[in-house]
Amino acid sequence: MAEIHRQRLVGIRKHRFDIVLLGPPGAGKGTQADLLSAKYGITHVNTGELLRALAEEPTQVGEAVRHFLENGLMVPEGVVTRIIEERLSSPDCERGFILDGYPRTASQMVTFDHLLQELGREVFAVIYIEVPDSVCLARLSTRRVCSGCSAVKTIPGGSHQSRAACERCGGRLIRRPDDRPEVVVRRLALFSREIAPVIAKFEREGLLARVDGRNRVNDVFEQITRAIKRKLTNGKS
Ligand SMILES: [Zn+2]
Repeated sequence: MAEIHRQRLVGIRKHRFDIVLLGPPGAGKGTQADLLSAKYGITHVNTGELLRALAEEPTQVGEAVRHFLENGLMVPEGVVTRIIEERLSSPDCERGFILDGYPRTASQMVTFDHLLQELGREVFAVIYIEVPDSVCLARLSTRRVCSGCSAVKTIPGGSHQSRAACERCGGRLIRRPDDRPEVVVRRLALFSREIAPVIAKFEREGLLARVDGRNRVNDVFEQITRAIKRKLTNGKS
């Protein structure tokens, strides 16, 4: 990175909202990140979406990533690091970011620390949306995504095929391959196994705020904004 650019980043660090959003698949991170993005004018960096976009590319890397995602496996760290680094360095993240779905492991945490140092930034707050596995599983079994505009919808009953069309664009609503129940079970197990050291470290640093993700969207959002306000008034703790 150019030195001038680096100095500029360091100069405005104090005014930035660099937020990490953690939670199991189905915790509602995407929804909350979009709300936060609208409220604070900062960019939602959706790790899952970036990986899914990469998986669409007709390259060897794309094909490999698709295999990992569709089977609920961990995408190799080098690949994840590259896309996160690229994304966080882009101009629309200068005011701040809501990082959704990263870091997920102890080792990614180390990489993330280095990356932030390199960019001259520091995490402002970490929001951990806690939801029991059973709730995540139930939510994801009724989740569909529009093949046209990527809107996320919940369909009643959780039937395999839905004839309903997207209200926004008329596109077909499909189940993401990684939302199949057997894959979700694997994703949840992987998440809870890998996330513990990440949570512990952010907690030690006084950055972590836990919110109850079982509540309704607006209630969860209120818990999150309250936690952010607390951070703003009390500094780090
Ligand atoms: Zn649509």
